[in-house]
Amino acid sequence: MQVLFATVEMYPLAKVGGLGDVAGSLPAALRKMGLDIRVVMPYHKKIKVDAEKIGEKDFDFGNVEIYSVEVNKVPVYLVKSDAIAENEVYGHEDWLRWARFSQVVAAIDEILDFEPDVIHCNDWMTSLVPLYSKISGHKRKFVLTIHNLKHQGEFEEEKFEELGIDERWKDILLWNGKLNYMKAGITLSDKVTTVSPTYAKEILTEEYGEGLQEVLRANSSKIVGILNGLDYSTWNPERDEHIYVNYSQESIEKKSENKKALCEDFKLDPSLPLFGMVARLVEQKGVDILIDAIRDVKNANFIILGTGRERFEKELEKLSEKDNVKAIIKYDEAMAHKIYAASDFFLMPSKFEPCGLGQLIAMRYGTIPVVRKTGGLADTVKDIDEGGWGIVFEEYSSESLKNAIMRGVELYNMVNLKNIRKMAMKQDFSWGASAKKYQELYSSLF
Ligand code: ADP
Repeated sequence: MQVLFATVEMYPLAKVGGLGDVAGSLPAALRKMGLDIRVVMPYHKKIKVDAEKIGEKDFDFGNVEIYSVEVNKVPVYLVKSDAIAENEVYGHEDWLRWARFSQVVAAIDEILDFEPDVIHCNDWMTSLVPLYSKISGHKRKFVLTIHNLKHQGEFEEEKFEELGIDERWKDILLWNGKLNYMKAGITLSDKVTTVSPTYAKEILTEEYGEGLQEVLRANSSKIVGILNGLDYSTWNPERDEHIYVNYSQESIEKKSENKKALCEDFKLDPSLPLFGMVARLVEQKGVDILIDAIRDVKNANFIILGTGRERFEKELEKLSEKDNVKAIIKYDEAMAHKIYAASDFFLMPSKFEPCGLGQLIAMRYGTIPVVRKTGGLADTVKDIDEGGWGIVFEEYSSESLKNAIMRGVELYNMVNLKNIRKMAMKQDFSWGASAKKYQELYSSLF
């Protein structure tokens, strides 16, 4: 079985968000298990690698060349075309660029000596691959992974003319009077996956369905939730070069040296419990309830690292005037590592969360996650009261979040959290188990 993984970003070649992380690690994990999986992505102009040209073809929109390079032992096909690749991954005529990219992926067998049995598409950007493949009569199987349902590739109906698709296929693309790439992808794929089992159920509801719930419900028998894994080599408190002092489960007491050092840097009292947060400052992440929840808390410290909506950035900066709150408004990889290692608790009060990496990283660093029970957070964090290693609250409100924070403060003051931290560190969220599930999913298609 040969699988082609189609994506528009892949770490470390070009990464913007979570999709880039998954593309950079899942195919590599599957390859290690012996699967012949290859990646195809646009040759974005900022990608600087030594790639070899292995094929070319003229399309109606211009010439396309395919280059090949190996990343973590995975063959990666880079699609070079002026009509597709720009300097940045997103932002310029994406509706047309990604349609063309999908057209090229569907025709890969006409350019290379390679006919994949399965094409694994990712998000709306590659959601037209099944359609272009069916139009040209291909009999392959398709898996579509939804990393973020919020972005569906919705565009005005008039744009259909420029996609080079025959009118009789138009209905598959239409949803609520617009073209909707993801709807076409969901409809024509053999399996649809989301990045956690709970989110796979949530998206069938009006609350989480982002307007596509009817389409998803009609296709619910194809939907599977498979949790994302975490890259355990990048996120490893034993080797992490960004943190003050390295530690492991066996030397967990050294974790507190990280707290002491960070508190010193920010002039915080290290005897108080420290709550950390690293996130995009957007509605999804629960920033509005966070701001209200921590406003009057005095017996705990908060360090929040993030960028995003201006309103949230401003309000957090204002809260920073309090002695016990520090908001760091920037993107800072090294600071993120320090916060994961130094904090007693890690906050993720998300409104929705397809999978979430923050809580997985926190657990890896023995930091107790405080999460709302939704999506991937519900699948990965078990409450301390149920014999678990986290603090879980249900209702999306600042009051519930504040109660959860106060539970943390109380725990911190009353019990030694060492064993709970160790339990968090013992959980295995590396790619192994999840990659196996993808392999089984591909096999189930035949
Ligand atoms: P999402 O993909 O929805 O943003 P995740 O929790 O899945 O949320 O992943 C977010 C990742 O981005 C985590 O690795 C987190 O540490 C990182 N991150 C978010 N904001 C920042 C920031 N300001 N500085 C450094 N890293 C950040």
